[in-house]
Amino acid sequence: MVKVKEWVKNLVTYKPGKPIEYVAKEIGIEAEEIVKLASNENSMGASPAAVAAIRNNIDSIYKYPDGSSYDLINKLAGKYLISSEQIVVGNGSDEIINLIYSAFCEKGDKAIMAFPSFAEYLLIGMAHRSNVVKVPLVDFKIDLAGIKEAIDGNTRIVFLNSPNNPTGTIIEQKELEAFMKAVPDDILVVLDEAYYEYATGKPGFPESVEFIKRFDNLLILRTFSKAYGLAGLRIGYGMGSSEIIDAINKVRQPFNVNRVAQIAAGAALEDTKFISETRTMNETGMNYLKSELKDIGVEYVESYANFLLIDLKTDADSVSDKLLKRGVIVRSMSGYGLKEFVRVTVGNESENRKFVAALKSVMNEV
Ligand SMILES: *Cc1c(COP(=O)(O)O)cnc(C)c1O
Repeated sequence: MVKVKEWVKNLVTYKPGKPIEYVAKEIGIEAEEIVKLASNENSMGASPAAVAAIRNNIDSIYKYPDGSSYDLINKLAGKYLISSEQIVVGNGSDEIINLIYSAFCEKGDKAIMAFPSFAEYLLIGMAHRSNVVKVPLVDFKIDLAGIKEAIDGNTRIVFLNSPNNPTGTIIEQKELEAFMKAVPDDILVVLDEAYYEYATGKPGFPESVEFIKRFDNLLILRTFSKAYGLAGLRIGYGMGSSEIIDAINKVRQPFNVNRVAQIAAGAALEDTKFISETRTMNETGMNYLKSELKDIGVEYVESYANFLLIDLKTDADSVSDKLLKRGVIVRSMSGYGLKEFVRVTVGNESENRKFVAALKSVMNEV
């Protein structure tokens, strides 16, 4: 047996939502009948413009991708009115989180995150032997005052997530402004806006691109995995000062983003109709779920994203197991210290109905 580094042995592996095909086999029903509301994917599917662009360009896959993602970066720069030197594209925003640790955090240096928040800040940080410090949420919101207090001379990175996964709460414009002014400018603040397309335009939610024009230590992360419906292609991007982007480019692989993903993302970005339909579906579904949850008598956290954190007031693992047996996959939050909470993606109409029916029958049992 080859020898694994001692500290690597202690790392934990990320547990993704179970694939539909696997669950179908396990419980003995057809894959088509399974409702997966566990990974915040877009239940409308992928942007049709992206799918068409892939079909039209599929014969070119024998070529290496453009290592500079030139076309996509230019489209993003045009959309957000920033320079192309302020943008980096990654193999999912997950890859960019990894590159951030590579570029900015030496072994033993401190990174600060809220908890619960996106698990990858912790797991990737541990793989870099960083000291990742978790600051508990207050009332399900990121505690910016607590994070400020946790900052010390060894701190290199702060991870903020807005809307925050798994709570759906946001950091408001005024809070972000005050925080950025208070944080020393040699600390990288990462603002992960994976659910930006769902939250933009809602009262209080900042247009954070304005902030990168004023703060050289801010990096915004966005992704094509959620509202754009391209999770399977793995593509996300970062926006910040050219100094930050330059450092990230130094540690990334030359062909980190594949050709198909670049083409699809470019087309998806211009598919504003799809994003607007997605937002409508999400709003309708969210309203339906909230009213049904009230009927059932469970509580939830107000969400700016495409998921709801639900307080079942009973063991979440057991409820999610029972839902699974009825063909509905949700995410139990027990691993995050929220023993009685599940996170549920807002699906399309039929998915939401199936989830509500299954939850009603499970809650009647417990
Ligand atoms: C889903 C999610 C991501 C993942 O993005 P990829 O681009 O698919 O790697 C990043 N951050 C948060 C908070 C997410 O929920």
